[in-house]
Amino acid sequence: IIIDIEGAYSIFIHQKISGHLLYGIWIMEHEIWKAKGRGPLKSERENQYIRYLFFLNNGYQLAMSDLRRFSKIVLVKNKDVSDLPEIKKLGPEPLEIGLNEFKKLFAKKKGRIKQVLMDPFFIAGIGNIYADEILWYSGFHPLSRTENLSDKDLRKIFNSMIKILKKAIKLGGSSVDDYRMPSGEKGEYQNQTKAYQHEGEQCFKKDGGIIKKIRIGGRSAHFCPVHQKVL
Ligand SMILES: [Zn+2]
Repeated sequence: IIIDIEGAYSIFIHQKISGHLLYGIWIMEHEIWKAKGRGPLKSERENQYIRYLFFLNNGYQLAMSDLRRFSKIVLVKNKDVSDLPEIKKLGPEPLEIGLNEFKKLFAKKKGRIKQVLMDPFFIAGIGNIYADEILWYSGFHPLSRTENLSDKDLRKIFNSMIKILKKAIKLGGSSVDDYRMPSGEKGEYQNQTKAYQHEGEQCFKKDGGIIKKIRIGGRSAHFCPVHQKVL
């Protein structure tokens, strides 16, 4: 997340594993920042690990709650933002490219589709949940090799990616672990998944498949062995 502030500087924020930004009002009580009033900022355990607070000129604060303390906030000159190590090698934003640019990315890439989609240096912002869901919708087994995908296959994957990411944004993201929306509430996409965390259940396509879970490169992958083809 890059926040362009007044003057020649920006604030660069990497939320890492458990960090998330919250918007509200906090008051120091017994050396602990406590959210004012009622609601999820106060009641949800995941929102109680306030590590940073920015005081905004409207009386509210922007806070970072981060259980595991891996998150990072850096003040950086505008002209140096693109040189930050986390930004420099990042692939394009999936919702900012068209089908042709998406296809071009694959022209010089070899690997298993699940790992490739989750590689931020290939394409930014697709985590484990969304990669599983994109492949379930488009009908490709997570172990499929990218070099075996045709133009038509890539179009299916691209269309599923756009559809799923837009829906996930609309629903406030996925709160499987620590992530919460800035209001402190849970996102809702985790209740919409078709493959992710459905292992052992009937496939939603009613094709007789039972969702399987395997490990690929140290991460879990969920898929339907009936309609998701290995290429
Ligand atoms: Zn299926």
